[in-house]
Amino acid sequence: MRAPFPRLSRATFVVAIAALIAGGCQTEPAPGESDGPAAAMDAAGASGAAAAGGEAATASSPALAGSEPAAGASEDPGVDRAGRRPNVILISIDDLRRDRLGFYGAERATSPLLDQLASESVVFDNAYSTSSWTLPSHASMFSGLHPKSHGATLQFTKPRADVRMLTEILRDAGYQTAAVTAGGWLSEGFGFEKGFDAFESHLAPGRGVRASLAQAKAFDPERPYFLFFHTFGVHCPFNVPPKYEKMVGPHAEAARFDVKGMCGDTHFMKMDLSDGQIAYLSDLYDAGIRRMDDFLASLIGFLKARGDLDRSILVVTSDHGEEFREHGRMGHGRALYAESLRIPLLVRAPGLEPRRVSVPTSIVDLTPTLLDLLGIEAEGMEGTSLVPRLREGDAADAPRPVFAETTLRGEKARSVVFDGRQLIVDLKNDRIETYDLVDDPEQRAPLAEGTRASAPASPLDDLLAAHFADHAEEPEAVVEVTEERLEQLRALGYVE
Ligand SMILES: [Zn+2]
Repeated sequence: MRAPFPRLSRATFVVAIAALIAGGCQTEPAPGESDGPAAAMDAAGASGAAAAGGEAATASSPALAGSEPAAGASEDPGVDRAGRRPNVILISIDDLRRDRLGFYGAERATSPLLDQLASESVVFDNAYSTSSWTLPSHASMFSGLHPKSHGATLQFTKPRADVRMLTEILRDAGYQTAAVTAGGWLSEGFGFEKGFDAFESHLAPGRGVRASLAQAKAFDPERPYFLFFHTFGVHCPFNVPPKYEKMVGPHAEAARFDVKGMCGDTHFMKMDLSDGQIAYLSDLYDAGIRRMDDFLASLIGFLKARGDLDRSILVVTSDHGEEFREHGRMGHGRALYAESLRIPLLVRAPGLEPRRVSVPTSIVDLTPTLLDLLGIEAEGMEGTSLVPRLREGDAADAPRPVFAETTLRGEKARSVVFDGRQLIVDLKNDRIETYDLVDDPEQRAPLAEGTRASAPASPLDDLLAAHFADHAEEPEAVVEVTEERLEQLRALGYVE
């Protein structure tokens, strides 16, 4: 059963956005980062901010949002009244666990902005990533291919040269394209820059939001655009201003320790952390989500005030979750349990009625879905369009198996979710586990377990074997990175 959670009323939301735009809702800058949401607004330029402020209170009404006709009035998400395709705005909040968000049942007020967006969107309650770390997951998001097929499965690899990315397809269809990523595995050189007219990387979330606002403002208003914003705003190291710790409290104060510079399993797995300290890290994680929600409020508020939001397909999602020792580990990337694989996924688009979809769904379906919404053909993809589910919900089509895999730092595992169960095969340790996701969603005790030789046979075995039958063993592409990027990957806990 889902826990109750707070929602902002529409009126409260509009007032909050107006206050943000007017600079009346200052947030404390993060350590090492002097910019907050209000500063992000400034980057869009004084005239843009002023115009946004003037329109904020009425932005939810297309007729009052601006002089241009709003595409929101169209029945068809593929085109607006002028026959123009909508913009595509893809927001990937790296490392964001589904269960820590209000609209997925979290009791803490971590996500007022995202909760409001979710109430206007199709929300996928059981969305899964294709992997538990950044590079293979994002490559699936952009290619419609599973990691075994796009090839970016190991550190310092990238998708095969012949893999067509969403951005390239949109650019060929006439879209202006701009990306602002947080770097790391999404730095230039890992293949994500393909098709982008502009590609920036900014580690600090505030700078990323500011750059995204500037990119949005620079687009030619006569042509549709694709804006991709990726952030490490909730990723460790969990340096969050105390204000946000208090906002999501109560807090594990007694276990407070200095987490500066500590990240992932390169640090936390090697420390003898007490239960209280793990709870403290988990609290900081929630606080980081609350801060990121504030940053996003400035970006979404700006797009809404300009009338862009109602002319856009907006997707908010993540690439994987984060572990807090639920199954013995900290960080992410080496296991495929729910806390690592389950992600938020919401789609807000002109003509789409808000609804919840509970059938398991994969991030590999995202690119085929966007292209289907836009009436652009998707060729050679393994993902399947979610447009029937967007329009009709669970009854739209038959459930499909959802696959995932990871290879990171010596670990190698595969997973399939189907028919209320998850099969996880740990290839390194020769361990197989099957979980009942209905009765045991947190995966506390496997229904069946054993080695590959001893575990009882399951119908999921055949699904997994068929999926990986054409698996290429090792990817060929090797990416060279600068020492600066390497240092960033170390700081994010990926490289020792
Ligand atoms: Zn990630």
